[in-house]
Amino acid sequence: MRRKLAAGNWKMNGISASLTELESLATVHANAGVDILICPPATLIHRAAETTKDTGIRIGGQDCHANAAGAHTGDIGAQMLKDAGATAVIVGHSERREDHDERNEDVRAKAKAAIDAGLTALICLGESLAQREAANTLDIIAGQMSGSIPDLATGENMVIAYEPIWAIGTGKVPTLEQIGEVHDFIRTRLERRFGEGVGRSIRLLYGGSVKPANAAEIFAVPNVDGALVGGASLKTADFSPIISALE
Ligand code: PEP
Repeated sequence: MRRKLAAGNWKMNGISASLTELESLATVHANAGVDILICPPATLIHRAAETTKDTGIRIGGQDCHANAAGAHTGDIGAQMLKDAGATAVIVGHSERREDHDERNEDVRAKAKAAIDAGLTALICLGESLAQREAANTLDIIAGQMSGSIPDLATGENMVIAYEPIWAIGTGKVPTLEQIGEVHDFIRTRLERRFGEGVGRSIRLLYGGSVKPANAAEIFAVPNVDGALVGGASLKTADFSPIISALE
């Protein structure tokens, strides 16, 4: 049985004052029946982990370097995230793929570095609008899966988020059928590659304009084990009903 997961990606948002959102989140959802992961900017990871200590709410990074350490000014290694209190890290978010020209092989190396450091790698996949309109979605997802997912994946060390690029921050959401088609496709390929046991244990999140108003219907789609939420994770007033829809 896969445990549901509500993950929040704060992106480049959040200063010290934002930690009050975590305090209020913990007030309502401490030791919830679902997993909760918040990925604040790196500057807040340590304090966020302290703020959520003993609440069951986990803290993650938004990216890590593929190398463990070294001459990489401005970058952060997976072990450093762990040391700061993170238990997971997002890799391959479409904004990183686009803004930093990250390719599947980079994402795979980062995911491996995360897993080697003892973190859960939350790997993002998703097609552009042009790719969807050209009916290439499943081919794109297949290529991203074989290119970005390392061989040592398990249900504990890896989570996959299907995030159609055209749905991120736009208010546009695929139909429930479209979400279901991609999630079923990912599940089948995971089972084929890693065997039924491991393939069935890896959690699949949907991401892209998830809001309190659409969360419940998305969570009812088979093979949707939760959500990766951007904008609506910043305020507890928005994120809390999404978590509740998963419980
Ligand atoms: C995201 O950044 O991963 C995301 C899904 O953003 P939003 O929920 O704002 O569309």
